[in-house]
Amino acid sequence: MSRSAHPAGPRHADVLPEGHYTAPADDLNALDPKVWAHTVGRDADGVVTAGGIAVTQLAEEYGTPAYILDEADFRDRARAWRTAFGTDADVFYAGKAFLSRAVVRWLDEEGLNLDVCSGGELATALSAGMPAERIAFHGNNKSPEEIERAVRAGVGRIVLDSFQEIVRVAHIAESLGKRQPVQIRITVGVEAHTHEFIATAHEDQKFGIPLAGGQAAEAVRRALQLDGLDVIGIHSHIGSQIFDMSGFEVAAHRVVGLLKDVRDEHGVELAEIDLGGGLGIAYTSDDDPREPHEIAKALSEIVTRECEGARLRTPRISVEPGRAIVGPTAFTLYEVGTVKPLEGLRTYVSVDGGMSDNIRTALYDAEYSVALASRTSDAEPMLVRVVGKHCESGDIVVKDAFLPGDLAPGDLIAVPATGAYCRSMASNYNHAMRPPVVAVRDGAARVIVRRETEEDLLRLDVG
Ligand SMILES: *Cc1c(COP(=O)(O)O)cnc(C)c1O
Repeated sequence: MSRSAHPAGPRHADVLPEGHYTAPADDLNALDPKVWAHTVGRDADGVVTAGGIAVTQLAEEYGTPAYILDEADFRDRARAWRTAFGTDADVFYAGKAFLSRAVVRWLDEEGLNLDVCSGGELATALSAGMPAERIAFHGNNKSPEEIERAVRAGVGRIVLDSFQEIVRVAHIAESLGKRQPVQIRITVGVEAHTHEFIATAHEDQKFGIPLAGGQAAEAVRRALQLDGLDVIGIHSHIGSQIFDMSGFEVAAHRVVGLLKDVRDEHGVELAEIDLGGGLGIAYTSDDDPREPHEIAKALSEIVTRECEGARLRTPRISVEPGRAIVGPTAFTLYEVGTVKPLEGLRTYVSVDGGMSDNIRTALYDAEYSVALASRTSDAEPMLVRVVGKHCESGDIVVKDAFLPGDLAPGDLIAVPATGAYCRSMASNYNHAMRPPVVAVRDGAARVIVRRETEEDLLRLDVG
């Protein structure tokens, strides 16, 4: 859909400011199933419901802001990925998108594996009973303590990110009398974002070991010589919020090229390749993400074709979706406070949260949708910017959207697709207390991460 600077019908329509907005939807009360969790709808009174519970009831019970997470939807999406990739491939949920013990148990029950990238994430995974052999440990600067903990726990793989780490992990594993399964993370010079990818990107980033200049081959050469390491495969992660599969095609081509070089030099066919995560979701109605089965089919065809070309056995594929599983399953519920129309510009709608519960708009210029949730309205659409309550003018939750013109303090509004990278990147800026995550399912709600309290804040401040 083309973006229009002059949509029809909004209030203050005489001079519309610049922005990335499409014309308001015909019906502002409609909830596009693309951007909302599966069980979200409206009840007979027009109140938005999730998991069969009205948001008015959720707000009363748990307060606002709150992340409302649809457990059935999470499980459906996790299962869809699992089923799409079948038994010849592994799906590692990227815990950094959002991790809690309830989520770990759901993943375990649905047969997914788990990526962690810090000691804290590892501790969460282990404390919820995720079998260590189904955990992968990532990171560009894992501490010796973190590595030791992961090796002792028996994680299924550590993804090695540098030459120093090859030696560090080998040394720690050896000193513990273990042989640690590892993958080597390489950068293949592909950078992918949303609708575009760059096949000749500079490998100018902190993650991975560049394929360029033979560095990745040298990393494999060194790792194969170390007794503490069992080199099981190669890892590549090319970007985020990707819709176009052609970046993966180029990446797979280059990874398989390395596998072939390794075979030719060492007579070893590495058994696995991990193509990372980064699959996109719909934040607005303009986004059209692929289904897991389409992604699985495309990736498997690409890898099989490349391996046939190189006369290699097809390795076991793994992928690491984070956002694509948890992103669409939650929305953030806010209460409207101040509503400030700026004549000829737009109306600023202030909510009781902001950049402390959703930093993505400020950080990445991310786009979001928003809906009036506590009632429906037939009022004319007005162009709004949904902002938080923080002392920072970049504190924007939804940059450009339309809400009904009769929006008033006390209304509840909901911002969909906030399941990924919102609670996990939340902060205490301005001493905000981070919102709870409330899981809803079959008419029941339960808190899986509770709201922070003043005591929580003050407990850390030891005077
Ligand atoms: C961030 C990350 C992921 C998950 O990315 P999503 O965009 O949430 O799918 C997977 N693998 C690695 C190595 C990552 O850094």
